[in-house]
Amino acid sequence: MAHIVFIGLGNMGRPMAANLQKANHSVTGFDLSAEARAAAAEAGLKVAASEDGLFAGADVVITMLPSGAAVREVWSRAVPQMAPGALMIDSSTIDVTSSRAAHDLAATAGLLSLDAPVSGGTEGATAGTLTFMAGGTDEAFAVGQPLLAAMGRRIVHCGGPGNGEVAKICNNMILGVSMIAVSEAFNLAESLGLSHQALFEVASTSSGQCYALTTHCPVPGPVPTASANRGYTPGFATELMAKDLRLSQEAADASGSRTPLGAAAEDIFGRYAANGGRGRDYSAVISYLKTL
Ligand code: NAD
Repeated sequence: MAHIVFIGLGNMGRPMAANLQKANHSVTGFDLSAEARAAAAEAGLKVAASEDGLFAGADVVITMLPSGAAVREVWSRAVPQMAPGALMIDSSTIDVTSSRAAHDLAATAGLLSLDAPVSGGTEGATAGTLTFMAGGTDEAFAVGQPLLAAMGRRIVHCGGPGNGEVAKICNNMILGVSMIAVSEAFNLAESLGLSHQALFEVASTSSGQCYALTTHCPVPGPVPTASANRGYTPGFATELMAKDLRLSQEAADASGSRTPLGAAAEDIFGRYAANGGRGRDYSAVISYLKTL
């Protein structure tokens, strides 16, 4: 049993912390928001009223926060209070530069650290079926893997510090670009008189096959579980896709990598998020594309 401090009890963090508790770890959570703290306490979690005294004595601190700045801020307070050999894990989706800076902070204090962003959404967080993409040393991964396994089904060690975030933003860049491609194809087919179902039947078994088509199909009908059949309620919200694409483009700029389709996808999802897309599933971009 590990003594775990979990910072960030939002839509993802709360169910993830609950799964660690179910696996018989001693978990104490904290969130800046009183509302999030109350919801976590209601879900049966032990919740601290402040960060004071929380980090000293923790075996593991896990952060699940909205931004790189928030992660760096929390780690800069937690790391100096923890004993050498303790483990820091950040599961937020953040920029690679912040992630690597957080790892450096931990290493300087003799702590182990992992970036371990997730895919699988709130459903996966609740069911304990998340995929974790972990970056960090072999030693940190060996210690963290069983904890991640209590919250997820697939745990992939992607290499050194920050590589989990690299995998996450590259994967979501593929998804963002492919959702636009699939949506454009449905819109073109529609304007040429081809039914959605006919295009789906051909493309889903041909070279156009991809996750955006067969799992998150942006038109109602062909894939019953897709958000398009629920009025485009998320699912994966447009603003989160816009955030991940922005992170991919910041990383592309910083590394001098050329990603013209990623840049176009960032532009489209960013504009859609600012023009009615916020709070809607990212597959609803199909209707936004018609307005361009
Ligand atoms: P959320 O906004 O529901 O939760 C974030 C929580 O962090 C909030 O409750 C907020 O009050 C708290 N917080 C912010 N700064 C803090 C600080 N300094 N100290 C303590 N608490 C603080 O967001 P979420 O949906 O749980 O997402 C969390 C992370 O997971 C994000 O990086 C997001 O991109 C990523 N993610 C989300 C999903 C999803 O489907 N929601 C899927 C994959 C990854």
